[in-house]
Amino acid sequence: MNIKDNLYKLEKELPGNVTLVAVSKTKPVEDILEAYNAGHRVFGENKAQELIKKQPELPENIRWHFIGHLQTNKVKFIAPFVDMIESVDRFKLLKEINKHANNNNRTIDCLLQFHIATEETKFGLDISEADDILNSDDYKEIKNIRICGVMGMATFTDDESVIRNEFKHLKKIFEHLKEMYFSQADYFKEISMGMSGDYKIAIEEGSTIVRIGSVIFGERFV
Ligand SMILES: *Cc1c(COP(=O)(O)O)cnc(C)c1O
Repeated sequence: MNIKDNLYKLEKELPGNVTLVAVSKTKPVEDILEAYNAGHRVFGENKAQELIKKQPELPENIRWHFIGHLQTNKVKFIAPFVDMIESVDRFKLLKEINKHANNNNRTIDCLLQFHIATEETKFGLDISEADDILNSDDYKEIKNIRICGVMGMATFTDDESVIRNEFKHLKKIFEHLKEMYFSQADYFKEISMGMSGDYKIAIEEGSTIVRIGSVIFGERFV
């Protein structure tokens, strides 16, 4: 199977309201172009260096989602073009994105990343940290960011019930934030959860964005 066939097969499986982010990390621009030429426009990268290198070599109308841990000193390089930063895991980062969005005369869409897995290696806020951010005076000064929802990664395990419960937890967090802070904001509607191994469960649990790499581009060896 080639990239185009993998994409078409996947798109047929996904409900119409679910956005597919094709995660192209470690893959060459040729592979991304193959997906692009098959009509796909939304791609995900998890390393700023890699994204900065690939972006100028590819069509301008690609919508890039940044999905990895982002160092504050890298924000300025992706702020001019990034479509969404899904991995906001600390307030300092949010402020830095706001600053560079403003410098570029843009508003940048972001998701708050939550730590829902058992692995300590995964990044993300907990609910009280998110409440602290959203209740703070500093947050009121932020004008160039739209927080569009939440993102999370489930534990890497074969136990479906663990994964399902973590996705349910993320949905609960989304509903809490929606009710408390974003009830009037129609753009606060995204729950980004589900990767190659667990996207079917994620969709059953209410995902609106799935981030899928290996099912489209094949396994990664680096
Ligand atoms: C790599 C990555 C994915 C996609 O992983 P696959 O298992 O290849 O689908 C999704 N989300 C994040 C944050 C990632 O780093």
